[in-house]
Amino acid sequence: MKNLNYCWRCGDSLEKKMDEGRERYYCGRCKKFVYRNAVPVAGVFVVKDENKVLLIKRRGEPHKGKWSYPAGYLEYDEKPETGAVRELEEETGVKASEQYLELVATLQLEHPDKYIVGNAYATNHEYTTGEVKPGDDAEDAKFWTIEEMKENVAEMESEKIIGAARKAIRLVGRLS
Ligand SMILES: [Zn+2]
Repeated sequence: MKNLNYCWRCGDSLEKKMDEGRERYYCGRCKKFVYRNAVPVAGVFVVKDENKVLLIKRRGEPHKGKWSYPAGYLEYDEKPETGAVRELEEETGVKASEQYLELVATLQLEHPDKYIVGNAYATNHEYTTGEVKPGDDAEDAKFWTIEEMKENVAEMESEKIIGAARKAIRLVGRLS
């Protein structure tokens, strides 16, 4: 994990200091701790034919060329459901409704310089509109079964994605 070097308030170098039992960054000039938090992303597993989920091949770093669920950073004031639907459409062309989203999992994902919390929702493909068409951030987009995901595990960003995909399929199956 990348170190934090400078205070965002005043630009001075940071030191490390114990606080609530853990070592944190501290600015001696501001006399304040500089907290570092996980960054939220949100995305949607679109479940089709009760056994497949829509994945995208990432065009950018990190994990360039790997398959993952369509997701992206939340805007500062954006609700997770709103961001999830927006990212799904941007990356795959598929439009989902916030009212048909079900929370599947919150995943901790590693990024080179931060930790990410992925809010993963599921929706039934029958409740979406639009043809699958990879957006600017995606090289490709297609539906995968769990078996196909397992066979291509080297291509997948993480085992966590497969676990969440399995949960998404079960959840949508129970609801329909
Ligand atoms: Zn400072």
